[in-house]
Amino acid sequence: MFKNLINGEWLDGASVSRNINPSDTRDLIGEYAQADAAQADLAIAAATAAFPAWSLSTPQQRFDILDAVGTEILARRAELGDLLAREEGKTLPEAIGEVARAGNIFKFFAGEALRPGGETMPSVRPGVGVEITREAVGVVGLITPWNFPIAIPAWKIAPALAWGNCVVFKPADLVPGSAWALAEILSRAGLPAGVFNLVMGRGSVVGEKLLNDPRVAAISFTGSVATGQKVAAAAVARMAKFQLEMGGKNPMIVLDDADLGIAVNAAVNSGFFSTGQRCTASSRLIVTDGIHDRFIAAMVEKMKTLKVDDARKAGTDIGPVVDASQLRQDTDYIGIAKADGGTLAHGGERIETNATGAPGFYLTPALITDTTAEMRINREEVFGPVVSVIRARDYEHALALSNDTPFGLAAGIATTSLKHATHFKRHSQAGMVMVNLPTAGVDYHVPFGGRKGSSYGPREQGRYAAEFYTTVKTAYTQA
Ligand code: NAD
Repeated sequence: MFKNLINGEWLDGASVSRNINPSDTRDLIGEYAQADAAQADLAIAAATAAFPAWSLSTPQQRFDILDAVGTEILARRAELGDLLAREEGKTLPEAIGEVARAGNIFKFFAGEALRPGGETMPSVRPGVGVEITREAVGVVGLITPWNFPIAIPAWKIAPALAWGNCVVFKPADLVPGSAWALAEILSRAGLPAGVFNLVMGRGSVVGEKLLNDPRVAAISFTGSVATGQKVAAAAVARMAKFQLEMGGKNPMIVLDDADLGIAVNAAVNSGFFSTGQRCTASSRLIVTDGIHDRFIAAMVEKMKTLKVDDARKAGTDIGPVVDASQLRQDTDYIGIAKADGGTLAHGGERIETNATGAPGFYLTPALITDTTAEMRINREEVFGPVVSVIRARDYEHALALSNDTPFGLAAGIATTSLKHATHFKRHSQAGMVMVNLPTAGVDYHVPFGGRKGSSYGPREQGRYAAEFYTTVKTAYTQA
């Protein structure tokens, strides 16, 4: 039984959840404690009590702890990557890459702890000085989704601790293993009791407790739009600081002058890798007339070579979908797209058992052509290996289609035209724009986030994370 970490102690939960391997549903990874609201209350109390001392800890103390955590994560990347692939279903190389990202994030924010910065300037009044500094916000509640079980927790926990906040972390129910492993590393890193707390449990129980408790000064949430709206409503009701990272319907434009190989590789990578379960996945391909048919033919040829199998098996390109309910959502959307007039050009087949006979949630990647902008497949997030194609007349039409979405997380263009690439970078209504690159797969040291219905509040990651995890103070002194 894997327990919750509350006030420096490992505690049993009120109930238990079973962590199942989506590549082989007979494989039980472990049983994990599920906290109730009373245990979440204990964690918030512990974090509240720890905050005054931790917020005044030295930058050296915070650097040493975060740097040690990063070093251990990087040293154990193969083992932690194996656990991640086993519980979430992305392939082993993808999972090891995600773990390495988490390690590097801890090291980046260890460095940030040493350079909080600030400004001094003269007042407009004679003899008065002004200092502008940043202070920790307080107790932060961190709520994360299942699709990046270690990287998203890392990119919230590391900056929170680096700038002197105390943390109550609630991971997604489907992937407690990576969250627990990260908490276990943090528990041995030298943090005072109560500074970091792991509270695994239901969103409707532990999550809601974090949203509604006045001792939680700020909430950082990544997940679906529907849950994000609940987070926002609860936070506004008690005027807590909050930040939301939610869904996407990310476009990738392919222009007539694109390098076909680059365009196909970028579209296959960001549409289907990690089983299409990335918020930055390109789920809408917008392809101009002159290259459309050649591009689709090359996509289908490439898709035929992709191996869908056990996430941890060497040679697997695409692992399983995360669970039965997400699988149903994926196949439902394929049906909706066909009923609306789309053509299933390739894939979308349910595979009950993999090459070794293990039962899992396997689905071959699906490409749906002949779709139009108003169809549900182009307006709603599927969150699986399902990509639709819209035909465009020219660049201007493609740009308008790409921005015709309630979301605005990432957007891409494949082109050899500097003019169109430059125009697109400026006029795309997305938070992250990629030229001749997949829309998914971003650096760990620069801001991450979107616009419109995809995000709310300050950016995550890089130095911009300070906007959320610190609060600014302006001090005046007359000598
Ligand atoms: P989800 O909204 O179902 O759950 C996210 C988290 O919220 C989980 O920990 C869940 O337990 C918790 N939760 C659920 N109900 C709650 C409530 N009432 N109060 C408080 N917390 C509650 O999302 P998911 O299915 O885990 O993740 C998939 C979604 O996440 C997709 O929409 C995807 O696009 C999005 N996502 C976005 C980003 C980004 O940075 N923009 C990154 C990854 C995933």
